[in-house]
Amino acid sequence: MSPTEPRVIRLLMELRRQGIADTAVLSAIERTPRDMFVAEPFLDQAYENTALPIGCGQTVSQPLVVGLMTQALAVGDRMKVLEVGTGSGYQSAVLALLCRRLYSVERYKPLLAQAEDRFRRLRLHNITCRLGDGSRGWPEQAPFDRIMVTAAAPDVPPALVEQLKPDGIMVLPLGDSAGICQELVRITKTPDGIDIQPFLPVRFVPLVEGLPEE
Ligand code: SAH
Repeated sequence: MSPTEPRVIRLLMELRRQGIADTAVLSAIERTPRDMFVAEPFLDQAYENTALPIGCGQTVSQPLVVGLMTQALAVGDRMKVLEVGTGSGYQSAVLALLCRRLYSVERYKPLLAQAEDRFRRLRLHNITCRLGDGSRGWPEQAPFDRIMVTAAAPDVPPALVEQLKPDGIMVLPLGDSAGICQELVRITKTPDGIDIQPFLPVRFVPLVEGLPEE
């Protein structure tokens, strides 16, 4: 493997300073070339700790948010994970290095096609994608050990809670679509329902039901 570039080392140091302590998560971020997930005009910012546009009016999250969400999800290498909102595929690539199998749903066809091409080039063969409304989950593949949603909804989609295993963990941004008041929460499925713990104020694009018109 080639030695880690200085701009990647700088980013990793910043993430560590800002609260990413899980070495498996840091290593997955180190091994995921973010420059492959951003468009040409933003290449020089690929390793800055900032969100960037990815087309279709969507954004790839800030690396710190990717790190904190991944860390909060506590993924193990035997786990089956669902991601809602493939987007650029960056968060998927990080998750795929930590779990056994990742299922990812995206509602924009062009974003999905680009992400799938990136997964092929990176030989991430444990990712399966599909076009659809991820707020309904992926019933044929349920239940999941972990679920990550990368778009904000006002409430936890009930289908996702249903498709989570007992004691399973889900991480998602909850809040209004204007992005004025959103919070990342970590949900644990308990025998009587769910336990919700907020951990970070954020600003995400909204979770939208149905598919865009072609
Ligand atoms: N994880 C992505 C973040 C992309 S932004 C990345 O690393 O790049 C959130 C994504 O969620 C967008 O691509 C948006 O199209 C998608 N999205 C929003 N609502 C959705 C839904 N109901 N089903 C599937 N994807 C959805």
